[in-house]
Amino acid sequence: MICVPIVARTNEAARADMLRAARLADMVELRLDYLQERVRLDFLLQDRPCPVIVTNRAARQGGLYEGGEAERTSILREAVQLGAEYVDIEYDAVGRLRERLGTKIIVSYHNFEETPADLHAIAQTLLGTGGDIIKIATHVTTTSDAVRLCQLSADLGVPKVILGMGSKGMPTRILTQKFGSLLTYAALSRDRASAPGQLTITDLLDVYRFRSIDASSAVYGVIGNPIAHSLSPHVQNAAFRHEGLNCVYVPFEVDDFDSFIKSSKCLSPKGFSVTLPHKEAAARLVRDVDEVTGKIGAVNTLKFDGGRITGTNTDWKAALDAIKSAMAEGASLAGKRVLVLGAGGATRAIVFGLISSGAEVVIANRTFERAEALAREAGCRAIRWEERTEVATDIIVNSTSLGMSPEVEATPFPKEALQGGQVVFDAVYNPRQTRLLREAAEMDCIVVEGIEMFVHQAAAQFEFWTGRPGPVDVIRNAATAAFDGVSETL
Ligand code: NAP
Repeated sequence: MICVPIVARTNEAARADMLRAARLADMVELRLDYLQERVRLDFLLQDRPCPVIVTNRAARQGGLYEGGEAERTSILREAVQLGAEYVDIEYDAVGRLRERLGTKIIVSYHNFEETPADLHAIAQTLLGTGGDIIKIATHVTTTSDAVRLCQLSADLGVPKVILGMGSKGMPTRILTQKFGSLLTYAALSRDRASAPGQLTITDLLDVYRFRSIDASSAVYGVIGNPIAHSLSPHVQNAAFRHEGLNCVYVPFEVDDFDSFIKSSKCLSPKGFSVTLPHKEAAARLVRDVDEVTGKIGAVNTLKFDGGRITGTNTDWKAALDAIKSAMAEGASLAGKRVLVLGAGGATRAIVFGLISSGAEVVIANRTFERAEALAREAGCRAIRWEERTEVATDIIVNSTSLGMSPEVEATPFPKEALQGGQVVFDAVYNPRQTRLLREAAEMDCIVVEGIEMFVHQAAAQFEFWTGRPGPVDVIRNAATAAFDGVSETL
């Protein structure tokens, strides 16, 4: 179930938000501690559009109520008298609610500092209070804390709500039904969250397909840091939906890759995408990768099959697919002269991919020594950054970060040196239309947007996990829709 917290400042606004929330949510939580005027509980509960949890959270448990305990809990007793479906009360104040009538009591524990080691002991304390439902919400410091919360939820055979707060707690908010928690909280809009890390109800429903997640849903995800603006959950969940697969794909903000992989076993994950800064650590985890992935030394896709972990790098194939999409049907990269700008992580995958397909690669980078080192490893030529306009080339690839938002007027290659008919691929995808691509189009070059590489690497990951071809058009549509939605905050 999804519960939307109502955090309005006035009774009238709270009532309006309840009506809006009830269109999508299963219930709402009336956060009385947010009201900045006298609470009119009868007005709020009268003809309510859905079941209600009444909460008046004390400041000591992360709420806004700063008055005395007697006054704070008397309004909860009034909620019971008025027939509220649920009342949420802190575990150390539950004795103040003697009469319960038909109301179910949620006994809650909040910790905004950490996720304590003794979660099971805390659960036992809550169970000892005699409430109907226990609620544990803790601050997640490492993603392994989030995994422990999921495990706790799975272990407890009683009605419970178990959640991790903060950006690293997001998986617990998405996987509640997978691990048997009664409900998750989701905000009516971004500015109406009642706890750090809370998703909006539309993201929960549209991106994560919350209604279709159950105990048998297979868990996939993306591991990285930062991860908040990743487009991967948008595209992979859309692909799973399109293929009718009971799978859910979740963001994992991870600092320590190895300890996360160990602790993630209890999620029984089926596959992970791996992004910065963990691709090299992922490469150390797997053996038997394909030849090009082995040379790149970075793995962006992991697959779990029983106790066996396999991995690959889909970036290099994706870059080739993106470039080939601009070439004539059946055309080959063999013998094509390619100038690659950059020498960072993206360049490495692109260069090894191009060389494996027989292209003649020249690398130019601001720091010449990096270009030289990569060229030596890959078996191609490096030139100085100032010489980049002097080489004859069929294809130009930008894999520097030049042109990326917010420096959108920067460009890695002067317009006047571009030649009509050249293929110009810009790995930068924020913005989608970089200055380089705009100018290349003006010079009659064939342009390829960076988002094409993102789309193809996602499709290849999907295929690596499921054995089915990744639905490229579905992934492209989801990527562009999500990109338009989040690009301003990237
Ligand atoms: P990275 O490892 O940090 O490398 C950055 C590269 O940009 C280095 O070669 C660096 O040169 C160069 N650079 C930075 N500022 C420069 C400047 N002012 N003038 C000249 N060169 C400059 O980054 P990365 O991971 O390789 O990513 C590079 C770009 O590719 C990013 O925009 C990223 O978003 C994009 N990308 C796209 C995809 C996709 O799917 N489309 C995938 C991965 C990456 P130095 O060596 O001299 O510092």
